[in-house]
Amino acid sequence: MKKEEMIPGRRALLRIAACLGAVVTTRVMFPGETRAPGAAAAPAPAAGPPAARPPAGAARNPAAYRLLPMTGDAPSGRLTPAPPVRRKPFLELPQVGHTMVLTFDDGPDPRYTPDILRTLRAHDVRAMFFVCGEMASYNRDLVRQMAADGHIVGNHTWSHPQMVKLAPSAIRKEMERTSEVIEDTTGTPPVWYRAPYGAWNRHSFEIGAELGMEPLAWTVDTLDWTTPGTDRIVKAVRDGAGPGVVVLSHDAGGNREQSVAALRRYLPELIAEGYGIGVPHP
Ligand SMILES: [Zn+2]
Repeated sequence: MKKEEMIPGRRALLRIAACLGAVVTTRVMFPGETRAPGAAAAPAPAAGPPAARPPAGAARNPAAYRLLPMTGDAPSGRLTPAPPVRRKPFLELPQVGHTMVLTFDDGPDPRYTPDILRTLRAHDVRAMFFVCGEMASYNRDLVRQMAADGHIVGNHTWSHPQMVKLAPSAIRKEMERTSEVIEDTTGTPPVWYRAPYGAWNRHSFEIGAELGMEPLAWTVDTLDWTTPGTDRIVKAVRDGAGPGVVVLSHDAGGNREQSVAALRRYLPELIAEGYGIGVPHP
């Protein structure tokens, strides 16, 4: 066994120490979420049936649907309890009202990410950015801006490999290095990660949990990376819209002008229809 496989990472040790101090359950929820008596304490990781659109003219309550990160159960963000080892990523998320989660992968890219940040800021909504460590290391100012604007910065590995083809030690390096860049840049380690190409395996779930992260996939793939045209991207989001839906787009990895233009269209449309756009926090 290689040395690095025997010695838990710095963060894993911190989290183990935190867990020894208190037994605290970790669950994913939104602020204000209510749960029916007898309902499961944690959401099922598999996607449910497609969610229905809100009725026309649905009441909107900005305080309820514009979600903010919550501080969690632990006294500090750094020593949050380790999440469980999942067998599947989350495909959708629990929600309040008509909340959806927008996610942007592969960045940051100075050609596209600033436009996306500007649009989100203009509508006062928070999203999730799954950054690649290598890109983040070249564009730390953009990562800082994401965090400053209240967005969640997630881990999308260092170099965007297919993790299923890597040895556990290589998966760990990809994920750990990326978490370190995010923490060094924003002051907070990531609590969410996403496997490139949606290719997850047992090792990635185990290592992700050790590093204190939950796996998030997506409900709606805009296929924006195929540059299908702005109209098609807008249609994909609008057709897939629903409570708890997680939308996958990209702010890097190729020409993303269509992704930028599509967001400018579908975001105000979704808000006008009564959807909230928000972010979860475990
Ligand atoms: Zn990706």
